[in-house]
Amino acid sequence: MPSPSPTPARICRGCWDQMHMPIPIRGPLAIPLRIVGITQSKMNPNICTVCERSFRFVQKRRRITANVTMLFADMRGFTSLSEEIDPVALSEIVSAFQDRCAEAIWAEDGIVNKQMGDGLMAIFNFPIKTERHAEAAIKAAVALQRNCASLFADLAQRVGGVLEKAPGAGVGVHSGEVEIGEFSNFRSDFTAIGGAVNLTARLEAKAAAGEILISPAAAAAAADLVTGSATRVLTLKGIEHPVTAHVLDVTS
Ligand SMILES: [Zn+2]
Repeated sequence: MPSPSPTPARICRGCWDQMHMPIPIRGPLAIPLRIVGITQSKMNPNICTVCERSFRFVQKRRRITANVTMLFADMRGFTSLSEEIDPVALSEIVSAFQDRCAEAIWAEDGIVNKQMGDGLMAIFNFPIKTERHAEAAIKAAVALQRNCASLFADLAQRVGGVLEKAPGAGVGVHSGEVEIGEFSNFRSDFTAIGGAVNLTARLEAKAAAGEILISPAAAAAAADLVTGSATRVLTLKGIEHPVTAHVLDVTS
């Protein structure tokens, strides 16, 4: 079952945490803002489109360095699925997957910063401040896997034994410093870049269906959630030293 959505905020939590500026996003006070185009963000319904598209206005600079936890997720077996299922049904599956992932991320005050086909990139601790952001991201990853389990079970039943492997989600979680800002001259919404982002993406790429791979930095910041879990030494593309990741498999 999808986890409950976050408590709906009356004012934008991003603008409040970043500027202490109360921007109404729900209720009667939000109506005049909606008229001028300030609405809830698609990255998280508790932040507004000012946070999303006016990074330079909010931060008074083009980019900032922030300590965050990143989460990458995508569907394992998507390529073989796309050969077995017609495009309309496939797009419904992808959007159901994205919705369930987003609910899990929002429930922990993260934002879905990017959606890339069957995958997504989420940030915890920006723009909504979350002190225990590694914990929040790992809890979101567990909820994400649980939210998606029934979706993938239905899917496995539907395509029967045609697929080589059962479909499922792979998730990577890592904490570290990233650069957040506007890096494109064509798009005004912000994103995160840097080595910590790449490491998270590489971890996710190594996660099997149903797995969450957690970096040593994220695991150290959320020890209670990873105690007793298995570890795996991984050689990651573009990363000099092997990484000992904690492995959570909540679906088995
Ligand atoms: Zn805002």
